[in-house]
Amino acid sequence: MTRRHACAFLLAAAPLPTLAAGLTTLRGKLVQKKGEAPYLDVGGKPVALEGDEPTSGVLNDERLAGADFEVVGQTVEPGRIKIEPIHTRSLFLYQQGKRLMVTYWCDICYIRTYTPGVCWCCQDWTRLDPKDPDTPDPKP
Ligand SMILES: [Zn+2]
Repeated sequence: MTRRHACAFLLAAAPLPTLAAGLTTLRGKLVQKKGEAPYLDVGGKPVALEGDEPTSGVLNDERLAGADFEVVGQTVEPGRIKIEPIHTRSLFLYQQGKRLMVTYWCDICYIRTYTPGVCWCCQDWTRLDPKDPDTPDPKP
C-alpha cells in the first residue's frame, strides 16, 4: 500500500459532521489585531469569538485577516459567541458571493484539513483552500 492510499483510508474513517440545535449564524469581517484575540466586526460592532484549538488556529490565520467571514455557534453573552467544535464545520468565508467552508488542502496527499498547519501525512504545509460544500474533492 502506498502512503497516499494509507492516508485516504484513514481519512475515510473520520467522523461525519453533525449539527446541533439552537445555533446562531453570524457574519461579519474577521479582524485580527496584534496582541488581541481575533473578533468579528458585525456592522461596526465587535463580537468576541471563542472556540476550540483548531478553530482558534483558523481565526488567527493571517491569510483570513479582513475576510468576509461567518461563524456558527452559541451566544454565551451579548457580544460573545462560542463557535461550535471544528468537526461541525462552523467556519465560512464569502468569496464572490459564495459561501465557502474554510478548509486547507495538501496537494501531495490530497488530504483536506480544517485548521492551518502541516499535513498530518507528509508534514508539508497545507494551503488555504476555501471550498464549496457541494463540490467534491479532486481525485488523486
Ligand atoms: Zn500531505
